[in-house]
Amino acid sequence: MYVIDAHIHLDWYQPNERKQLFHTLKVDGLISVASDFESCQKVWQLAQTYPFIYPAFGWHPEQILPPTNEINRILHAIDQSCEDIVAIGEVGLPYYTKLKNPSLDVTPYLTILERFIQAAKKCDLPIVLHAVYEYAPIVCDLLEKYEIRRAHFHWFKGDRDTMKRMKEKEYMISITPDCLYEGEIQLLIKQYPLELIMVETDGPWPFKGPFQNKMTHPNMVIDVIKKIAGVKEMSFDEVRRQITANTTDFYRLKQFDK
Ligand SMILES: [Zn+2]
Repeated sequence: MYVIDAHIHLDWYQPNERKQLFHTLKVDGLISVASDFESCQKVWQLAQTYPFIYPAFGWHPEQILPPTNEINRILHAIDQSCEDIVAIGEVGLPYYTKLKNPSLDVTPYLTILERFIQAAKKCDLPIVLHAVYEYAPIVCDLLEKYEIRRAHFHWFKGDRDTMKRMKEKEYMISITPDCLYEGEIQLLIKQYPLELIMVETDGPWPFKGPFQNKMTHPNMVIDVIKKIAGVKEMSFDEVRRQITANTTDFYRLKQFDK
């Protein structure tokens, strides 16, 4: 029974938490995204040690701008490891940072994102996007400009028109454990085709409802699959099989080849 957590920040866990997490792991693969250059190195190290970790390199947009050199170093690392990483990510636009600080100039973030999109094109790698609400259509424009087809909008939230546009382009989305208690996400599950859905935890990000005060664990994606099966009125195993196939195909995970 293969299950994959399609988006997690393994380097953000404390070493003892990570140990506990690996010890109790019931899922078979983890797409481990990076958030800066140091994070790329950590994720790379983890992937060298544990065969079930699939690394992605990127720069997380919800932080203050780095020195230019930082982005160059990440892009260089991507260039050097095109064949050995599964994606570019996490990259995107600073929706929540801008919400807190409305005077933030987003232009340099757009420039950074565009450089990562160019790298995805050049390396023929999928791109993992943090692009919610009004930033999602801006990112769609950029993806269309570079004719990027393999795009994963992780933890997507946005309006109906953007959702329709993403469906047409066959962009992937992933559902987090918040689907157990967020009506907005349950509606998204209902409206988005199962063939374009993956599951993730975005760990160690904490969740509420049944997950309140619990360390976010990749095993939680099993509850997410159960919820999706309920909303889609399908069997757990049918949904699990489809979601795993979506993830392995999208990220070209060789180990899971049928
Ligand atoms: Zn993330």
